[in-house]
Amino acid sequence: ELILSFESSCDETSVAVIQDGNKILSNIIATQINSHKRFGGVVPEVASRHHVEQITMIIDDALRTARVGYDDLDAVAVTYGPGLVGSLLVGVTAAKTIAYAHHLPLIPVNHMAGHIYAAAFVTTLQYPFLALMVSGGHTEIVYVDAPGSFHVIGETRDDAAGEAYDKVGRILGINYPAGKEMDALAHKGHDTFNFPRAMMHEDNLDFSFSGLKSAFINTVHHVDQVGDQLDRADLAASFQAAVVDVLVDKTLRALTTHPVKQLIVAGGVAANQGLREALNSVMAVRFPDTEMVFPPLRLCGDNGAMVGAAAHIEWAKGVTAGPDLNAVPNLDFERVAPRG
Ligand code: ATP
Ligand code: MG
Ligand code: FE
Repeated sequence: ELILSFESSCDETSVAVIQDGNKILSNIIATQINSHKRFGGVVPEVASRHHVEQITMIIDDALRTARVGYDDLDAVAVTYGPGLVGSLLVGVTAAKTIAYAHHLPLIPVNHMAGHIYAAAFVTTLQYPFLALMVSGGHTEIVYVDAPGSFHVIGETRDDAAGEAYDKVGRILGINYPAGKEMDALAHKGHDTFNFPRAMMHEDNLDFSFSGLKSAFINTVHHVDQVGDQLDRADLAASFQAAVVDVLVDKTLRALTTHPVKQLIVAGGVAANQGLREALNSVMAVRFPDTEMVFPPLRLCGDNGAMVGAAAHIEWAKGVTAGPDLNAVPNLDFERVAPRG
């Protein structure tokens, strides 16, 4: 089974050819980061224009790299939300057009399901499993009890983890998206600032990162005023330690209330080395029988391959869409009350 899959929810235009939901024949990713850097974030109008400019070339590249033609395909899949409406529409329109022209079924995919199913490229998923979903727009703990059945059992009340990285990185003069460079800087410093770990000892699975962001900004600005110098590496290390501590703490809580055989770490922040190290070492002690699954770095950020993996699951459930498929910018998973 071959699926041509599209991702254009934010600032990556990507098309992939995926075999049986777990084999990548091609995964072409064009990032627009250089166009958005100088604005310190993604500018929606600029993003949609780039998607339009790129998409035809990327489709060709994906098919050529995979050495397949339209006749070899079994289905077309596309991210239809959540994301920026103008960006999503470019992928949705392209996918609908190809599905219609080549008489192929169209499979609608939730972008966050894509992030989670990126794990299908590295392991055989066993249900139920938990996903720690940490990205630019989301920070959620998701309980997946059956293929494509997602239950949010914890989530951020304000900023997402990746968003917090990007905002504090900016204070340190690091270009958007700042996560990767902050991570590298953090490894050169020490946790000397002892920033707040919000909600860490509360008996729930939710997060909050806005207080941490404010504490970071206040610390830097205060020192700017008194004319002192702060160690940037120590600032980054202290910020990262606070983020990682709460992510790990809530993940352990979730594993206690929802015992599973696999923990998947998904989304752009899953690339974080500090988070990977901390989870690996604590899990080996606390939940040695739970398999840790970290998708390779290239599959943590936005990409078409993950959409193809999630589409394989949706298609098996019989989920398809017609030519009236529309972008749903605020598409979400179901939120359920955590189990005590
Ligand atoms: P969403 O998936 O929620 O719609 P998004 O698609 O913009 O949002 P992703 O592409 O999954 O988010 O991830 C991008 C985010 O990951 C950015 O905020 C970026 O700073 C962050 N990030 C990338 N690498 C790292 C890293 N090594 N450490 C921390 N954050 C990172
Ligand atoms: Mg992105
Ligand atoms: Fe994403």
